[in-house]
Amino acid sequence: MNRSDALKTPSGVLENRRELAYRALANGTMLLPAAAIQYQSRDGERRYHPDRELFYLTGVTEPGSVAVLSGSESTFILFVRDKDPSAELWSGPRLGPELAADRFQPDECYPLSELGDRLPLLLQRSDRLYWRLGRGGEVEPHITAALARTHLKGSRTGSGPRGVVDPGEVLDKLRMTKDAHELTLIKHAVEMTIEGHKVGAGKIAHGVGEWEIEAAINAAFRCAGGGGPGYGTIVGSGVNACVLHYVDNDDLIAKDSLVLVDAGAEYGLYNADVTRTYPSGGRFTQPQREIYELVDTARRAAIDFVAPGVSIAEVHDAATQILVDGLVGLRVLEGDPAELISEGEHKLFYPHQTSHWLGLDVHDPGDYARDGKSQILEPGMVVTVEPGLYFRPGQPKTPDAFEGIGIRIEDDVVVTAEGREVLTASLPSESSEVERLIKA
Ligand code: ZN
Ligand code: MG
Repeated sequence: MNRSDALKTPSGVLENRRELAYRALANGTMLLPAAAIQYQSRDGERRYHPDRELFYLTGVTEPGSVAVLSGSESTFILFVRDKDPSAELWSGPRLGPELAADRFQPDECYPLSELGDRLPLLLQRSDRLYWRLGRGGEVEPHITAALARTHLKGSRTGSGPRGVVDPGEVLDKLRMTKDAHELTLIKHAVEMTIEGHKVGAGKIAHGVGEWEIEAAINAAFRCAGGGGPGYGTIVGSGVNACVLHYVDNDDLIAKDSLVLVDAGAEYGLYNADVTRTYPSGGRFTQPQREIYELVDTARRAAIDFVAPGVSIAEVHDAATQILVDGLVGLRVLEGDPAELISEGEHKLFYPHQTSHWLGLDVHDPGDYARDGKSQILEPGMVVTVEPGLYFRPGQPKTPDAFEGIGIRIEDDVVVTAEGREVLTASLPSESSEVERLIKA
């Protein structure tokens, strides 16, 4: 599958998703606008980044579109930009209402210019409007006007939306559990990512620029036919590995330093998110190895916890427990591990969570906890497992031997009926195997 084929969601899959959305909407109507076109350096158009919610329910990747989904009518009405030869000269062909109707199979399809006129009628019979306030540039004034009109009329007819709700209230829950089509795309993104990581690892050596590793990985992602990196590739050597979202990648890799590589390919708008930490000379120093093996043990323990019925908090606790026991063993922390954890002492070295949801967004939406209760894992959910330890220079309690060490190991895991499938299993993380990936 090339990139554009990967963007075509089978119509049966989309109908299933919409059916679930209609049920959750009840008498509400949802409006999903396309993402705005992004520019850099004045008028340089960036590659289009379609809105994930719109894409999830409709497969629409056309800028300037608006989908109106009615729960009570079970209808999907699509508005798209009209054809415009002079604009198409610069930005490429637009589908226009006819081709869009053909391609996305809405119940009705109209030019975007008719949205303002049609919206009051479309909203009249719904009791709630699902719309993200502040989101829709040119669309929002139409919505405000339509709400005002239905409100006026509603006092006579008893109809029209009485509340505005965030679409995430319906969509986040649906998107948390991936269908078979989504899992295929995620697995493909992970495979591309694993190959890219291997290419990057093969170039790591003392004296090489972090940017060279980044370029090799990004090129591998793009050459494999995907959308390229799903987020800014992180290549952090030495103390840069302690910066959680380091994206400058402009230092030279030093001798006997660690190189943290956090990179994931995008395919069919789905993402992988993978981290490995390598020794620049192909061999961990003793202090590096102690911390590395501790993080890798925590990673394994957390992955073993991933299963249906387990809460996402329990996965984090499993990793944290191992890390804190280890830090006490290494005399970095002193005291009773349980007490240290409850007082948050570990956050000095392990400041982030172990997992996030993964899918159309790298940090996919969905609650991790609600009403004080941690989310229970279900088959089809995709999570990262990414414990790490960071000893920033100058940070209190950091022993000299560990100063400047930053290690994270991140895998992508699907919850299955039986337990879990580690999608990234074929990318080595065991210390001796990681050493072998470095050719230096
Ligand atoms: Zn991640
Ligand atoms: Mg990551």
